[in-house]
Amino acid sequence: MKNIRNFCIIAHIDHGKSTLADRFLEVTGTVEKRKMKDQLLDIMDLEQERGITIKLQPATMQYQGYTLNLIDTPGHVDFSYEVSRSLAAVEGAVLLVDATKGVQAQTVANLYQAIEEGLEIIPVINKIDLPNAEIEKTKKEIVHILGCESGEIILASGKTGEGIKSILNAIINKIPAPQGKVKKPLRALIFDSKYDSYKGVLAFVRIVDGRVKQGDEILMMATEKSAKAIEVGRFIPQLHEQSELAAGSIGYIATGLKDINQCRVGDTITILKNKTKQEAAQNNVSNVGVNEEKKLQPLPGYKEVKPMVYASFYPHEGEDYNQMRAALEKLKLNDAALVFEGESSPILGKGFRLGLLGLLHLEIVQERLKREFGFQPIITTPSVAYKIIKTNKKEEMVYAASDLPAPTEIKEIQEPRVRLNIITPTKYLGEVMTLVSETVRAKYLSTEYIDQERVSLEYDAPLAEIIVNFHDALKSASSGFASMNYEFVGYQPYDLVKLDIYVAEEKVDAFSQIVPRERALSEGKRVVAKLKDAIPRQNFLIKLQAAIGGK
Ligand code: GDP
Ligand code: MG
Repeated sequence: MKNIRNFCIIAHIDHGKSTLADRFLEVTGTVEKRKMKDQLLDIMDLEQERGITIKLQPATMQYQGYTLNLIDTPGHVDFSYEVSRSLAAVEGAVLLVDATKGVQAQTVANLYQAIEEGLEIIPVINKIDLPNAEIEKTKKEIVHILGCESGEIILASGKTGEGIKSILNAIINKIPAPQGKVKKPLRALIFDSKYDSYKGVLAFVRIVDGRVKQGDEILMMATEKSAKAIEVGRFIPQLHEQSELAAGSIGYIATGLKDINQCRVGDTITILKNKTKQEAAQNNVSNVGVNEEKKLQPLPGYKEVKPMVYASFYPHEGEDYNQMRAALEKLKLNDAALVFEGESSPILGKGFRLGLLGLLHLEIVQERLKREFGFQPIITTPSVAYKIIKTNKKEEMVYAASDLPAPTEIKEIQEPRVRLNIITPTKYLGEVMTLVSETVRAKYLSTEYIDQERVSLEYDAPLAEIIVNFHDALKSASSGFASMNYEFVGYQPYDLVKLDIYVAEEKVDAFSQIVPRERALSEGKRVVAKLKDAIPRQNFLIKLQAAIGGK
């Protein structure tokens, strides 16, 4: 075990994580040169087409007598849960910063998470091959956020391969070997999962203690479901069968399970007889009380993810509700941030309400549902969840404007708020601050200078304003240089109203929305004007109206 190193690569989106992983796979001879392609660990077609990483992806490499287990992670804020689970499975992180872009919002967000997990950080400046690389400036920024020595920062290029061996050596020399004990009972943390039609549910695991081999009877500690390990192995990066996995390793256990709910991300896998032995021991000592210390403790799992946006998916004509549920369950197995539950609508029938981490997440789920399962459901307008305090003092969560109780029943509407972090070159500070103050109802909190030319701003802002259009607006206000990150902080009351749209005197629920009262009039006008253009011209008059509580 002293020759194992587990690490992940973290960075802001596009700073070159997946490309760096390609070089690692090449230098270590894990993937043959002729089989090499760009961003090889972006395994899904969707990732390759879009050039973004959506899923974490492990890969095991052999280098100078060491086993290196790498987990490549996504950079976009919508997939941050993939990052946090990866961080919990490793001892170190390579922090990449693009020399032409410098420290950006996800650089900081991911770094703080890694520090919180107690990981050893290896700072790397990437893309030094580019003519506009600003190495000295980027070094200063990294020193500022990480507090490391400037000399520790490795200069590299995932394009030319420069610095790659230095990074691999730093991984070996600086990241501690895993701590677990092979002799202890098995404890394996499930950090991801996937459905395989032959092998059933595949649990992606970090073995913390003990060992597991093919044929072992295993137990999922939280669900108390047992299964047979029909295969165990590693990712190189495709599945590669092994005789066993021992403490310190990262790999997979094929469970053969067809019921996906029995193997959950965050659960601990142990050997079934460990539990049985324990119960026997407990029965023997039951008169004198159970010896709690002897009891095998599950590993700390993961923080529950909180969805940021909700949208309803209704099966299209000819699509089956139950089959769609099965598809969503399979998808959830490979997308731990996805939550859903059944709901029904008078017009659309039976469907599902999905909770997601953002609009990109929604788009990816929609696309995967189509490609991997053939479903193209009707999708309602995404919305954040509001907390309604009713006049009878009861609380109610509302996920779509049309579900809002009657105005007389509402005492207060609370909206989700986020801590918004924006990092921008000082050159665009004026534009960025104007954009924020004029568009998103945010409260300014603080400013921090990362260096003379780059500044980090903090705001308290309504989530609803941040998830639509704001990212694009920020990019255009800063010629693409500012970046943002946000984190949910809680609910706060605001004077919000329901805006209804009437077409030919009929209220159309699907067009209802929850808006700040001060913006209701302008928003109403905007929607009506848009509808006027959208509805084909008629020979007779169609009345289009926007209304608040009937007015
Ligand atoms: P990720 O989002 O962090 O995984 O970034 P990718 O690895 O997908 O890379 C983003 C883009 O940067 C791609 O177009 C890569 O070809 C490019 N890229 C990555 N590393 C380098 C590098 O060292 N030099 C140059 N010139 N381009 C790079
Ligand atoms: Mg990537």
